[in-house]
Amino acid sequence: MPDGTTALGDRTVDAVDVHAFEVPTDGPEGKEQDGTLEWDSTTMVLVRVHAGGTTGLGYTYGDASAAAFAHTQLAPVIRGAPVSSPPALWRRMGERIRNAGRPGVGAMALSAVDVALWDLKARLLDLPLVHLLPSCHDSVPVYGSGGFTNYSPDRLTRQLADWVEQGIGRVKLKTSRHPEADPRRLTAVRRAVGDGPELLTDANGALGRKEALYWARRFHDEWDVRWFEEPVSSADLEGLRMLRDRGPERLEIAAGEYAFTAQDFANLADGPAVDCLQADVTRCGGITGLLEVAGLAAARHLDLSAHCAPAVSAHAFCAVRRLRHLEYFHDHVRVENLLFDGTLAPAGGALRPDTGRPGLGLEVRWADAEPYRVHGARPS
Ligand SMILES: [Mg+2]
Repeated sequence: MPDGTTALGDRTVDAVDVHAFEVPTDGPEGKEQDGTLEWDSTTMVLVRVHAGGTTGLGYTYGDASAAAFAHTQLAPVIRGAPVSSPPALWRRMGERIRNAGRPGVGAMALSAVDVALWDLKARLLDLPLVHLLPSCHDSVPVYGSGGFTNYSPDRLTRQLADWVEQGIGRVKLKTSRHPEADPRRLTAVRRAVGDGPELLTDANGALGRKEALYWARRFHDEWDVRWFEEPVSSADLEGLRMLRDRGPERLEIAAGEYAFTAQDFANLADGPAVDCLQADVTRCGGITGLLEVAGLAAARHLDLSAHCAPAVSAHAFCAVRRLRHLEYFHDHVRVENLLFDGTLAPAGGALRPDTGRPGLGLEVRWADAEPYRVHGARPS
């Protein structure tokens, strides 16, 4: 193990390169759907930072415009800057994009760069990222997440039952695009997975307040659903609070995947509006942003659940004291397995970072990624 001071020394960021890959969805049934969105592809924006022959990588899922944003707004801030303190660079990047637009695309670009800087530092120190972070767990329990509203009954039940067969004791399906279809879908899922596994649902903000209260009671009473994510828009803090107070006691209300800033999380934690907070490390300011959210959740006595991006979330959320679980999301699992070597597979219902590999333990599979490139150029 190299001495930390020597390994980091006065090293500075030599270069930054940014890429985006748009990967079509794998469904045979046309566009995938949830309560409020249709999509036929998933775009990963990938950032690499280089120092002294070592490379760190980070990513976010969004539009390729986040790649352009990282390239024009953020790369100039970190090029030539010391690699020793990602939070110091996080602060400088945040200041730089005040007028360019910090929440949304700006926060996603910043998250990808921040993750790359942490990965770089860990690799320079020859440490797995989980050991560089203030970790309090060595693995992260997962729940299987997919069950899109356009799936055929067969695909829906097979996908969720497969996760249960792999030892994952919690599964989530999308609901509420066509609420009248949900009883049939939930009955089929419950029959396929049996009584044991925990059922989670996600409306992606599709319902009005009274509709959401009606479905919250039915989901819980008829199919023993224990988690109702974004029953109403996560911007409707009062609606979330109402559902939390008046819905079934054993049905948790969850939101937070669209929180970009610490204040967004504070708004959800006030009241509180949710029973369990969610955070996406690739949207909330990367690992530096997530560490702030973890402190906020602990101070408000709320558990924090990881939204998606399993390859980075598995390391990052080991540092969340009030960790609940991680969303093992079908689309992201597929994209990460396609674009990276070194991804993790769940064992015993959890992802355990590989401590035998430095950083996130990921290597880009350039040859496989190239057909999907929509931004940047293959490194020579
Ligand atoms: Mg969701």
